[in-house]
Formats: sequence, structure tokens, C-alpha cells
Amino acid sequence: MAASPLPTRRHADVIVIGGGIIGAACAREYARQGLSVAVVEPGPIGGGATAASMGHLLTVDALDPADQTESDFSRRSLQLWQDWLQAQEAHRELAEYSRCGTLWLAADAEELDLAERKCAWFGGQGLAAEMLKPEALFEAEPLLRRDLWGALRVPGDGRVYPPRVAGRWLQEAQAKLFRARAVGFDGASVRLDNGRELWGAMTVICTGLAAQQHLPAGWLLPKKGHLAITQRHPGRVQHQLVELGYLKRAHLVDQDTVSFNLQPRPGGQLLIGSSRQIGREDRELDPALLKQMLRQALHYMPGLGELSLLRCWTGVRPASRDGQPLIGAHPLLRRCWLATGHEGLGITTALATAELLVQLSLGQPCSLDPSPFRPERFSESQHVVVPA
Ligand SMILES: Cc1cc2nc3c(=O)[nH]c(=O)nc-3n(C[C@H](O)[C@H](O)[C@H](O)COP(=O)(O)OP(=O)(O)OC[C@H]3O[C@@H](n4cnc5c(N)ncnc54)[C@H](O)[C@@H]3O)c2cc1C
Repeated sequence: MAASPLPTRRHADVIVIGGGIIGAACAREYARQGLSVAVVEPGPIGGGATAASMGHLLTVDALDPADQTESDFSRRSLQLWQDWLQAQEAHRELAEYSRCGTLWLAADAEELDLAERKCAWFGGQGLAAEMLKPEALFEAEPLLRRDLWGALRVPGDGRVYPPRVAGRWLQEAQAKLFRARAVGFDGASVRLDNGRELWGAMTVICTGLAAQQHLPAGWLLPKKGHLAITQRHPGRVQHQLVELGYLKRAHLVDQDTVSFNLQPRPGGQLLIGSSRQIGREDRELDPALLKQMLRQALHYMPGLGELSLLRCWTGVRPASRDGQPLIGAHPLLRRCWLATGHEGLGITTALATAELLVQLSLGQPCSLDPSPFRPERFSESQHVVVPA
């Protein structure tokens, strides 16, 4: 098929659809390559799943030696996050960054064994990690319940406030912002819901879960989550605290789950998570599930019961069918590139996503193996039905 000529009049070299953390990271990376960027976003920048998230930057291990994908991906991205955060103190301030580290809490012998295996993996990779015995754990986090078996401490992990970062990255990209919803793509043009048409050399689709509208059925899957934030706590919580049972439950597909995941905010409030409801994309609070989540938090940190909640909210993780994001050429739309499906790790992996997508779309050598992320992997395993 002969390619139609590129339009000579362009609004920008690259049109990025969606101003969440992934769209913002991509916009910034294209600009760093010397290309001009336009961003289409009808809502707040860094809204969507990005605003709902915890902003935990976490290293993912690869206990299964046969699958290094997520681990390599998160490590590359965390390196890029550190490069950005260290480049200017203003970045750390604006991002509300803290290198709080993660404590993975073991509540029984099985979880302690998992913690020890994770610790050995980190050590083998030359990454900082240590096991804390119960006494050391309670010294580090005195508000935790007393019968835990110990914890794995990963000191390099951190937290950020993602919406502010997304805004900053768009500024760095000097992106032209179009306040509208994209309703159609046709090669190098994008139709907006206000009737305008934008022209560029390529279009990058970073619309989170909404990207499903431009993909064959079933490639993306919503995973709704609840979070709650308390008033300022007078005591001391220093680390992001995550129960190791979280790992067992995060991949269950047939039931709603809750896990203890707690983050100290810079102002002293405590952010409490989290829940997973697969297939749910509404934003309604589910009081019964929220109660279950808070009960789990109380179970790990009994003193929380004395605090008032300031706010509770939900967000929807844009998951893919196999748990890996879709990064690469759109399988059906020419000159369109995709970066979506990051589920619960999109903040952590935003910068590696942007780097990989830009390298692929500009024909540059890739820093990571792109094959696990190829969007067309799903079309090879099913009959493709293009949405109307
Ligand atoms: C409860 C919860 C906790 C989480 N915690 C963490 C965490 O601690 N660490 C971590 O790494 N990740 C976490 N995540 C995951 C992370 O938030 C997501 O993976 C990430 O935000 C996805 O970013 P995105 O840019 O793809 O999507 P979004 O942030 O949803 O952005 C997509 C944007 O596209 C726009 N859009 C949609 N359709 C159109 C259209 N047609 N035209 C123009 N614009 C459009 C939307 O308005 C939106 O702004 C969490 C998620 C949730 C829900």
C-alpha cells in the first residue's frame, strides 16, 4: 500500500493524546529529541488514574528467573526518575519526592520466606535491601502491630505526587495544549470533539483505559482501586509499608481484594490503600469494600483507629490482558503509536515507557527489549475486530 504524503502544514511534529503521567512523559521525551509536541487533554493534566494513584516508585524483583521483563523495566525507569530528580533540587521539591524506602511486611512463615528470597534477589543484583527482624522492624516503625515476623527493607524506593510531575513534564516539553477530546485518528490527523482537526507527523495514544476505544475488544481491562487519606498523624511513619500478602492477591482475577499499603505523606497525613476490583471502571465508592480495606489497615496499624479520614477516592488502573503495558506501533492505525496498559505501575515506569516509545517510533536503538510490550502480540492470538 502506498503511503499517503505527510501534510505540509503541521500543528506539531508529534500529537500526544492524553495528559496523564504517560502522555506527559512521552511529550517530554519527544521534545528532548528536538521534536515539537501538541497534547490533547479535555480534563486536568495528570488527572485520570495518575491523580488517583499513590505515587510509589518501587523496584520490582524478578524471583522467576525466566521473566525479567517487569524488573528490567522498573529498574530502567527508576534510573531515569533519579536522573530527573537529581538534576535540580526544584524537581524534588515540585514532585514532593521523598526517598522513604519500602518495608515489605511478613505476617507469617510463608511471607518471611518470600521476603528472604526477595532480599537475596536484590543482593544478587547489587541493589540495596536488608531483612529486619521483628525488634528492628518495630524500632523502625513503632506503630505497626507487634506480632509481625519481620520485613524486607528496600531503601531506594520513594514516592512522588504524580499530577504535579505531569504538569512539569509538559512545561519542559513546551507542549501546545489543546483542551478537547480526541474522537478519531486518521493517519497523521486527529479529530477533536470541538470540530477541529490537528495535523502532525505521528500520533501517540496515551489515553489510559480509554485507549480501549481504539483497540480490538478486550485488550485492556479496568482494575478499580480505593484509597483513603487520614488527618496528620502525630506519630512517626517513615516508610511505605506494604504487606507481602499484597503480592499474592494483586493477580487474583476472580474476586475483589484488599491489602495493607500505607504511605506517609510529606505533611504527616497517611495515605491508606488499597483495593482491586477487576472489570470495574465506575468511580463510585464502595462502602463495604472501603470498610474492609480500612479494617485491614487497622489490623496492621491499630492506632489508625484514632484518626479521622480526610478523604476517600477511587481510581481505575488501566491493565492489559497479560499484565504488561502496550508500547509500540498501533496494530491497526498507521502513524499511530500506543503507550497504555500500565496497571498499578504507571508512575514508576512512565519514564522508561517514554524512552522506549520514542526510540521505537524514531527508529533508534532501544535501551530495553521491546518485544514483551509489542501491542500486536494480542492480535497474533485472536481474530481482530476493529471497533467502529
Ligand atoms: C488506586 C491506584 C493506585 C496506584 N498507585 C500507583 C503507585 O503507587 N505507583 C505506580 O507506579 N502506579 C500506581 N498506579 C498506577 C498508575 O496510576 C497508572 O498506571 C498511570 O497513572 C496510568 O497513566 P496514564 O497516563 O496511562 O493514564 P491516565 O492517568 O488515566 O491518563 C489518561 C489521560 O487521557 C485522557 N483521555 C482519555 N481519553 C481521551 C481522549 N479521547 N482525548 C484526549 N484525552 C483523553 C484522560 O482525560 C486522562 O487525563 C495506581 C493506580 C491506581 C488507580
